[in-house]
Amino acid sequence: MRFEFATAARIVFGPGAVAELGTVAAPLGRRALLVTGRHAERAAAARGALAGAGVAVVPFPTAGEPTVDTVRQGVSAARAGGVDVVVACGGGSAIDAGKAVAALLGNGGDPLDYLEVVGRGQPLAKPSFPFVAVPTTAGTGSEVTRNAVLASPEHGLKASLRSPLMLARAAIVDPDLLVGLSPPVVAASGLDAFAQLVEPFVSLRANPVVDGLCREGLARSARSLRRAFEGDASSSVRVDLALASLFGGLALANAGLGAVHGFAAPVGGLFDAPHGAACAALLPAVLRVNLRALGQRRPESPALARYREVAAIVTGRPDAGAEDAVAWVEALVRSLSIPGLSRWGATEGDVERLVAKARAASSMKGNPIELNEGELAEIARASLVVVR
Ligand SMILES: [Zn+2]
Repeated sequence: MRFEFATAARIVFGPGAVAELGTVAAPLGRRALLVTGRHAERAAAARGALAGAGVAVVPFPTAGEPTVDTVRQGVSAARAGGVDVVVACGGGSAIDAGKAVAALLGNGGDPLDYLEVVGRGQPLAKPSFPFVAVPTTAGTGSEVTRNAVLASPEHGLKASLRSPLMLARAAIVDPDLLVGLSPPVVAASGLDAFAQLVEPFVSLRANPVVDGLCREGLARSARSLRRAFEGDASSSVRVDLALASLFGGLALANAGLGAVHGFAAPVGGLFDAPHGAACAALLPAVLRVNLRALGQRRPESPALARYREVAAIVTGRPDAGAEDAVAWVEALVRSLSIPGLSRWGATEGDVERLVAKARAASSMKGNPIELNEGELAEIARASLVVVR
């Protein structure tokens, strides 16, 4: 057995933790680029905490998932503003944007010099500018991952900037920042977190540190996601969702992902589907096809016992079989009103190119079994319409 585990240098977790952002950021820099997402008002507490510690703020609002151009613009804004630290406060999109800007500020050059798959894929040579992440949704876990997903509209694909040098200097995870999220955002981001706990747990790169995080995260997600969607505003539900997201990020960064995320990359690149919504739509079919393929071709695979364990955790029944996990997830996806990929414009005619692009996606390497063309097409087709 050999594994590594790397994460943000510091994780501060707890209700109200955002108030500590100023004292965390001030030793890292005196002028901060504050990257925010579509709802910049959700970063008000972060802004106040920075100001309270005497850190000047250069605002950089973004809208939606970041593109290569978003990062170029952020680098320009940061240079013009003379910043020496980057703070991102928002969902995974804002955090990925900030992480990529911090990397480019430290290394120079263009995002395409470093981007995987569609760019030149050069490794980063120098440290990023100091970067602090403050998530306001519970889904991506991007505050503790070493990659930033960027869309390149000209290539119809999303790809990652990836380097251990991109890990945040601090992640401040405050469950109270989740107050006021809309039910569709809770559902999609929560199911992204759930997928990011299942995929590393059954991954070919699973390791004992990550296993423990996945078990704990799955239990918390399973007991609280539906309640949050239905409007339960209790602090314990928010804590569960924030921890599930954080643990999913820790897990994926150190054990990889699988076919859900292998497909999510081209789905997000070709269609205007938010990442969490795409993952949520893909999850049931990926579980079903993976299980069947493992049973047929690799009945000795340890992933089968892992799927049984997922079933036991989410159903609360120690004797649950792996198929029970599929049924449980299908019911959850349905009750959270997740639309199929057709909602974002995907059709039967897109199946072939989705399969071709998914095969090449970096996440696919972690899937517990190599899926054949027919199985991949079955996943794409079944995910077009999930609510029956
Ligand atoms: Zn994800």
